[in-house]
Amino acid sequence: MSLPDVLAGLRSAEREAGRPQGSVGLVAITKGHGLPEIQAKVLDYGAFPLGENRGQELRDKAALRPDLDWHFIGPIQRNKIKYLAPVRLIHTIEATWQAEAIAQAAERWGHAPEVLLQLHNGEPQKHGIPAADLAQTLREVQATGLTVRGLMVMAPEAAAQGIPDRGTSGQPTPGPDSTGPDSTDPPSAAPPSADPPRLGEDDSSRRILQVFMETARRAHDLGLSELSMGMSGDYPLAVRAGATLIRVGRSLFS
Ligand SMILES: *Cc1c(COP(=O)(O)O)cnc(C)c1O
Repeated sequence: MSLPDVLAGLRSAEREAGRPQGSVGLVAITKGHGLPEIQAKVLDYGAFPLGENRGQELRDKAALRPDLDWHFIGPIQRNKIKYLAPVRLIHTIEATWQAEAIAQAAERWGHAPEVLLQLHNGEPQKHGIPAADLAQTLREVQATGLTVRGLMVMAPEAAAQGIPDRGTSGQPTPGPDSTGPDSTDPPSAAPPSADPPRLGEDDSSRRILQVFMETARRAHDLGLSELSMGMSGDYPLAVRAGATLIRVGRSLFS
């Protein structure tokens, strides 16, 4: 897999979801990869936003390439906010104090990042804002002066582990209640060469799609337009549910 394969898969997923070509943006997740590799595997194909999940690593790379569109997708620790100055979009705000500390730092920087709120995905002990607290946290984060563009969510891991890798799953097998309201399986046209991962209507796919659709509904209800969801293994489901940004790492570098 390489970036052109992922882009072809993304366009195909857009088509199958009945969404306009190019309506979903690709954020290349470059954590753990050095700049020469990022150049060869990502930037040689275009000016894609780059996502990092560790403060120092982000700072070091951005210092060498301040011209690039850096996103932050990792947990936010108070003592590492100082490294986030080069970031244009933070995907992972999960508490009001984080927004307050970033807004404060932004005054020193002379510019502020835009932010997404990370929604809890329902798994125990995972990051994110519980759904019940989302509206209140949104108001508090907006009160810091930061611009909240949308929501971010991670697929539930337990479910994601149940998804077979691309190429090993064959045709999707309809589940017993595949006529239910969530069953929006696209017609099975002849797959193009760089088909996205084939995700069937098995339990784990259904569970992930449910989380993505719930996140989309909440964003819509809150008047938020950006939806960061979907990774290498599950982005077609995210596109189907309305993602506007997918965060793909492994598939670009394997
Ligand atoms: C690493 C990471 C990704 C990319 O996942 P892949 O499976 O490598 O595509 C996306 N989002 C977050 C928050 C990550 O940490």
